[in-house]
Amino acid sequence: MKILDLSSLRLVVSAGNQDNDQWYKDGVKLIKDNLKVKPNMNTAKSAIIFVGDGMGITTVTAARILDGQMKGQTGEENVLSWEEFPWSGLSKTYAVDVQGQIRLLQRRASYWYVVGMNDEVTSRYCATASADRNATSILSLAEKAGMSTGFVSTARATHATPACSYAHSVDRHWESDADKKRIALDDASSCKDIALQLAEYSHGDGIEVIFAGGRRELMHRNQTDPEYPDKKGERLDGRDLIKEWVAKHPNSQYVWNQTGGRIDHGHHANWAVKAINDAVAMNKAVSKAKEMTDKDETLITVTADHSHVFTIGAYPKRGNPMFTIVREADGELALDSDGKTYTSLGYANGKGGLNGSRPDLRGVDTTDKNYRTQATVKRSSETHGTEDVGVYADGPGAYLFHGVFEQQYVFHVMDHALCLSSSKQESCDKHVKRGGKGKPSAAFFIPVPSLYLLVILAYWITLTVQG
Ligand SMILES: [Zn+2]
Repeated sequence: MKILDLSSLRLVVSAGNQDNDQWYKDGVKLIKDNLKVKPNMNTAKSAIIFVGDGMGITTVTAARILDGQMKGQTGEENVLSWEEFPWSGLSKTYAVDVQGQIRLLQRRASYWYVVGMNDEVTSRYCATASADRNATSILSLAEKAGMSTGFVSTARATHATPACSYAHSVDRHWESDADKKRIALDDASSCKDIALQLAEYSHGDGIEVIFAGGRRELMHRNQTDPEYPDKKGERLDGRDLIKEWVAKHPNSQYVWNQTGGRIDHGHHANWAVKAINDAVAMNKAVSKAKEMTDKDETLITVTADHSHVFTIGAYPKRGNPMFTIVREADGELALDSDGKTYTSLGYANGKGGLNGSRPDLRGVDTTDKNYRTQATVKRSSETHGTEDVGVYADGPGAYLFHGVFEQQYVFHVMDHALCLSSSKQESCDKHVKRGGKGKPSAAFFIPVPSLYLLVILAYWITLTVQG
């Protein structure tokens, strides 16, 4: 006999034989499994970080349910690829001057708008930039240590999050010299635009793999786009940076690929259907990476740069289809105080904002990818959220992710796991290939980037997301 069933807690005590209860058995098994988890204190041979742009906790929950429903389950019980990782924590998401912004892959806190520079600069003023104010990125540390590096993004290669790994700019929007000319608040001639910094990147032997969009920033304005003859480049300096990059890296190849949308862009438009489907795509990319790497050697970290003002709730019945209007546990339509229906998804602001009274949703296709989920405050673009985001990890150093931390801690864990900077080398041993002592491990003979890493990256570009 069931004597206690708090619907929101899974606290079921059976007066009979609770040991036969599946929920109870699952709990016992998880304790046994978790007791076997030991921190992996090896030095990582390689590291991959997946940044789901705008993939806050509610987005992860929605993706978990949607992914489960796509597999024919009710959804809530589903487990995403990174939710199987043994280590996780929460990262705060604020910049020095604003809430809900990023400073993920570099060691110093900085301002919104600023890419790869510390808090001594003033955003958008070139005169405040100087080399001693540059923040070092994990990618540059890896290049200096002789590692092979790369980044993959469905956004422009010069967009803020990828740019943080190689560029230093007081304004994230200075992606080409034309952008800089248009928006700089002072004489910005001594500051290089982000595309130029990418082309001239000089740490180590340069970035090995770049899969991303945004070639207009790299092409001059008389150059015709190879794919769209009606489009031209943007640069004023007459330079063809793609050609220059290829010339500098003799064995490189320039290829292009078209990609789908992004979590962040979906949310900004209140297109929850697109945003959540992209988070499900990211789940597939992470599964693939897990399959293709050895967790004894590769640190995989999955996180987000920030969240969104996106929420999910309203007591839908178990298995309520993710995007439809809410049905309650008894199967009846849930109604608000005016007798109107609603979805379990909602935004605090954005284009789906209400003008006058909230329309009823009977007969509206809320599962359409272009359906704008309702929002409270009307705004031209939905905003980022301020709450923490999850960080999920497995592999060497992953155990350092626990508790609540500042966002740049993600950099420090990767730095420690790979044993790169001198401050970390006091407490870790460098990988043997990078000058450390000891015997190489078996899989060490696979050169990086090997074909399999490239395949992961190629796979990722069609699926993943960035900030
Ligand atoms: Zn955004």
